[in-house]
Amino acid sequence: MTDTTRTLCPYCGVGCGLDVSPPAQPGKAIHRDSQGNPIWKVKGDRNHPSSQGMVCVKGATIAESIDKNRLRYPMLRDSLDQPFRRVSWDEALTHIVSRMRSLCATQGADAICMYGSGQMQTEDYYVAQKLLKGCLGTNNFDSNSRLCMSSAVAGYVQSLGADGPPCCYEDLDLTDCAFIIGSNAAECHPIVFNRLQKHHKKNHNVKMIVVDPRRTPTAEVADLHLAIHPGTDIDLLNGIAHLLLHWGYFESEFVSECTANFPAFAEVISHYPPDVVARRCGISVEDLETSARYWGTSKRVLSLWSMGVNQSTEGTAKVRGIINLHLMTGQIGKPGCGPFSLTGQPNAMGGRESGGLCNLLPGYRHVQNAQERAEVEKFWGIPAGRISSNWGRTAWDMITGLETGDVGLLWIVATNPAVSLPDVKRAQAALLRSPFTVYQDAYYPTETAAYAHVLLPAAQWGEKTGTMTNSERVVTLCQAFRPPVGEAKPDWEIIAEVGRRLGFTDKFPFANSAEVYAEYVQLTRDRPCDMTGLSHARLAQGPIQWPYPDEAKQEKLAESLHTVTVSVKRLYTNLRFATPDGRARFSAYHSRGLAEPPDAEYPFVLTNGRLYGHWHTQTRTGRIEKIKQMHPQPFLEIHPRDAAKLKIQENDLVEVRSRRGKAHFPAKVTKAIAPGTLFIPMHWGALWGDETEANALTHPERDPDSHQPELKACAVQLIPA
Ligand code: SF4
Repeated sequence: MTDTTRTLCPYCGVGCGLDVSPPAQPGKAIHRDSQGNPIWKVKGDRNHPSSQGMVCVKGATIAESIDKNRLRYPMLRDSLDQPFRRVSWDEALTHIVSRMRSLCATQGADAICMYGSGQMQTEDYYVAQKLLKGCLGTNNFDSNSRLCMSSAVAGYVQSLGADGPPCCYEDLDLTDCAFIIGSNAAECHPIVFNRLQKHHKKNHNVKMIVVDPRRTPTAEVADLHLAIHPGTDIDLLNGIAHLLLHWGYFESEFVSECTANFPAFAEVISHYPPDVVARRCGISVEDLETSARYWGTSKRVLSLWSMGVNQSTEGTAKVRGIINLHLMTGQIGKPGCGPFSLTGQPNAMGGRESGGLCNLLPGYRHVQNAQERAEVEKFWGIPAGRISSNWGRTAWDMITGLETGDVGLLWIVATNPAVSLPDVKRAQAALLRSPFTVYQDAYYPTETAAYAHVLLPAAQWGEKTGTMTNSERVVTLCQAFRPPVGEAKPDWEIIAEVGRRLGFTDKFPFANSAEVYAEYVQLTRDRPCDMTGLSHARLAQGPIQWPYPDEAKQEKLAESLHTVTVSVKRLYTNLRFATPDGRARFSAYHSRGLAEPPDAEYPFVLTNGRLYGHWHTQTRTGRIEKIKQMHPQPFLEIHPRDAAKLKIQENDLVEVRSRRGKAHFPAKVTKAIAPGTLFIPMHWGALWGDETEANALTHPERDPDSHQPELKACAVQLIPA
């Protein structure tokens, strides 16, 4: 008999397993936080297949956050200049339902939007899709995964026929060459990186290439660091492909039997000779050739990428450019190789599986596919044609909808857009104009709470039971180990109750989250992410990787769903892809560069990213002493040459201005950043100080396919204070 609860770290997409035990242990003093709250004991779950007991500082300190700055009761106000007053759940929900009814009658359901988060559990996501897309008939559910992984989704779908990273963490131990592009994995996905680094250290023939304008801790340990100019990723990828083809590192049999569109790709890469590519990227021809040689001579190349690739107006093309390299060398569907996106949030994967973007439906279906819409309508028992065939509003379209008056109700769940959206001053101004904003979150105060008319307290990690899927498709049951604080409730319960009050009583009969999950998995039947064999009861025995069909289907799926047997963890091992003809698609794409390149007036490229200890907008990590001490304040990294030109010295306060706004940071003069490029961390919002918001500077220009904004780069000028 044990009092330990198995759960998952609720921060990044690595998805490390945690064991949590109560603060009171026989014979031991209770450990308390600075406010006197007892702290639950957390350690890595040695039996979790993805992390095997390892955790980083965020996972290790998570329990210190659960009692701090919590939203405990529903609160309401009629206008943003009034104080909140505490109300009952009944009053809060009655108010929301009445606004929804009247909006449906006057402006139609498309005036209602929900903006969710990769922090939601799959059950929360699923219930939200059913309410918005099924019952109300609007696809206006988008999540902050739009800012995070939507380019990876679009790239996988266009090149391989379906979303879903084909690799698994075991590949980190088996690769001959890791190609890390647009990812500071050492700080942002530390447990994945530790595993790779261990393999790299132990095996001297294993190579590590890091592509990043900044010399990050990840780049520090690489064999080759390509500090390319921001926005030249496509040049580099096409340039490597050019050399591979020229040198004959090319799997012609695989390309002819398993892929399509190679001639168009070959024509495009013929325009990327080494001297041109090296000049555009700002690297030497020798380094470019070394990277291509590592690719060509390695039997198993594993590509890892994250926001540096995805958060771009060319994000989808970059993802496809990475996949192109794997296709031309046949480096996919085998141990130790393949394209592997590192997911930002703990359940962005579960969100994608359950349809949690405004262009998706549960089970990796798409709203624009008539047959897939019909399948979901039949399953949900709603009239044919109820699900719209149009994309709903993306995260940024919700903001522009507030500006034009087309959005009459914005319901925000488990995210903090008043810090995290691009061009955040414009986003904040739009939120101020919102006729009615519901903010459902575990925390208060937050920057976004200042823009809400209704606050709904949500249960958080440890207070509700549900599932999450990590980057390698492992589904973990996150079990509750204590009751919610105050009157907080699980997100799915709140959304289902609104659905019932709107009259959709039979659509939300769930008594608990296990029942929600049992219904949801049926919508994955025969889909690439088939998990019909999963249930809360089955997952209570331990995490499981999908595909995991029910027993009757397991053998059939092994043959048809691109796996040799269901116990194999990789996708596409039979080299048949999820496209209609089973062939993967090369993309043929010329580089366009940054949406906002530097010019005479704004001569620097500003980039941004995470720090090791902090998470997103600090609603949790900003309250944890150890992490606050690690990262007490934001800063601006500037190269010594640029600093000297502008007479900026270490710790000088510098004003950074873009076409949209300004912010102030102390300078950190370092050769880690290339001349002409600057770096700031992204975690500081208005609650943490004056004018330190990274997104006051960024712009919302977006990728045409994924609609992911180019948060990673904008043009700025510097003014020494
Ligand atoms: Fe949590 Fe990610 Fe750290 Fe693992 S690597 S403990 S999932 S933050």
